[in-house]
Amino acid sequence: MTKIVGVMASERIVAGLVEGNQVMGPVRVYPEPGSSSEGLYGVPAEEIGELVRRQIELVTGGAAVEAVGIGFAGIIRDGRIEESPNLQQTKGFYLQGALGNAFQRVLVLNDADAMAAGIAATHGKLESLVRVWTLGDGVGYGRYPQAEGVWEGGHIVVTLDPKDKFCGCGGVGHLEGIVGHAAMRRRFLDMEPDEVFAEAKAGDARCASFVRLWHRALAAATATSIHLDGAGKFYLTGPNARFVDVERLNVDLHDMVRMSPLQGSLFEVVPTSDEIAIIGAAVSADRARFSL
Ligand SMILES: [Zn+2]
Repeated sequence: MTKIVGVMASERIVAGLVEGNQVMGPVRVYPEPGSSSEGLYGVPAEEIGELVRRQIELVTGGAAVEAVGIGFAGIIRDGRIEESPNLQQTKGFYLQGALGNAFQRVLVLNDADAMAAGIAATHGKLESLVRVWTLGDGVGYGRYPQAEGVWEGGHIVVTLDPKDKFCGCGGVGHLEGIVGHAAMRRRFLDMEPDEVFAEAKAGDARCASFVRLWHRALAAATATSIHLDGAGKFYLTGPNARFVDVERLNVDLHDMVRMSPLQGSLFEVVPTSDEIAIIGAAVSADRARFSL
């Protein structure tokens, strides 16, 4: 069976060997669990490339592999990191080129796209359109199959309120500026996001109104995706998927999408998993192998 290495690099690196849509053997994690390291924040781009190469070699033990797929947080084009809001030092870094000497075939893709491919592969949906929102510090939008374009869905404008400027990219009115963890901390300087959601449940009016906005923002960006790309299944993952009330989200979405051919979209929460992401990066590299 084809052996491919899948890697995800965001605030940390995870890597594993993938065979037949399954991770074989242990998953490598950098920095190792329990380490006091800050992960990749502030690590120079070339050094990140080197760390990725080392994780891949630890996974393969030096044996040859058919391809390497790397999901990376940011806008990726032709193997180059054009922008990475959370790892800004990597802007312009040609990661695919930096690894091209060490491995035969390397594909670098957006981390949320890798996640979408992983969900497609592990849910038997490799022939369907799969979209995923990754809810963490930022908000990622992944699409499988990968399509030409930028697809920065986390920065879809969901409000015209000029005061809504909490997005890390600096843009006004963005989805991530409402839904992203870092943005919620900027909005509620006196409360952590977990407290905001707990207080909303306990009846606090300000928190409850924000939780309504939070769901409507996610529904609005999903509605935009449906109006551009059609109805379908939307998966929600990442650490903050735990805040999602799927029922409320479906009601909000229903209000926002009324044309009959666009009805019938659904949300599903998928537990955050390094393995699904690794499988997705590997499957994408495998599928790209024939067109590289
Ligand atoms: Zn933004």
